[in-house]
Amino acid sequence: PSHIEGRLITDSYLKNMLSKRNVNSEKRDFGSCLIIGGAKGMAGAVIMAGKAAWRSGCGLLMICADEDNRQIIQAALPEAMFISFEELTLETIQKARSIVIGPGLGKSQKAKELLITTLENAPENIVVDADAINIYSSLEEPPKLPRKSIITPHKRELERLIGPTHGYEDLLNKQKAFSKFHGVILVSKGPYTQITDNLGCLLVNTSGNASLAKGGTGDVLAGIIGGLLCFVPKNISAAALGVYIHGKAADEWVKSGSDGSLSPLDLINLIPTLLKT
Ligand code: AMP
Ligand code: MG
Repeated sequence: PSHIEGRLITDSYLKNMLSKRNVNSEKRDFGSCLIIGGAKGMAGAVIMAGKAAWRSGCGLLMICADEDNRQIIQAALPEAMFISFEELTLETIQKARSIVIGPGLGKSQKAKELLITTLENAPENIVVDADAINIYSSLEEPPKLPRKSIITPHKRELERLIGPTHGYEDLLNKQKAFSKFHGVILVSKGPYTQITDNLGCLLVNTSGNASLAKGGTGDVLAGIIGGLLCFVPKNISAAALGVYIHGKAADEWVKSGSDGSLSPLDLINLIPTLLKT
């Protein structure tokens, strides 16, 4: 719409963001992505985020989820190493090149503890999504969000985080203020997803369509950004590229598939070709 301000995320904005791998590349050069989520009955969320991170370029992948989900996750995602919530150590958190926390995390006491420990020890390459946002919003004394961390709420999660909003201008002002105050990158998801950072930058996405209005698409976005964070130098660039590629995948999908038939896994299958082009 014409009233939207900010810089548009398009092909030309993203040109030259990805470079070809060096001939002497080693898996560790591309870093390890750690995904924390997948409470009982929610294995799908981390499986989708994990597959998306894998296709987006991380060198190694680790999934931290409820012990009950060990077998299903290892079977569905053989690329990943698995650890249970109880097995997560500070060393694992600190060694990860990027972290995604939230997909299917649930809101249990254990989830709360995991979020606090992770936020207190995480590197700045972290995506805070879904239930991690809901838990954070409910804490009376929330820990500091790592500087430049990427928070990815949809509209309802955003309002839990920044309070109720009244119209576009109000939402934008509150979003900018939150980004500035906390020093984070806030990705407010929906049609025309908008990204703000602590320096006053505002980016507006131009890709995507209503086929994305389905369960699981947000988990895929969080995974894509987590994968990109392993090697894209600036966090705001990883957020912009992730949001754009995710929307582009949906735009590719509706060229041959019906609006209502998209599975989040279809988006993942489209990532390799989109990143290539
Ligand atoms: P979540 O609600 O966390 O599963 O995330 C949904 C994802 O789909 C986000 O990336 C949204 O930007 C995207 N999405 C949802 N509805 C629409 C829509 N109507 N048009 C474009 N993108 C959408
Ligand atoms: Mg979500």
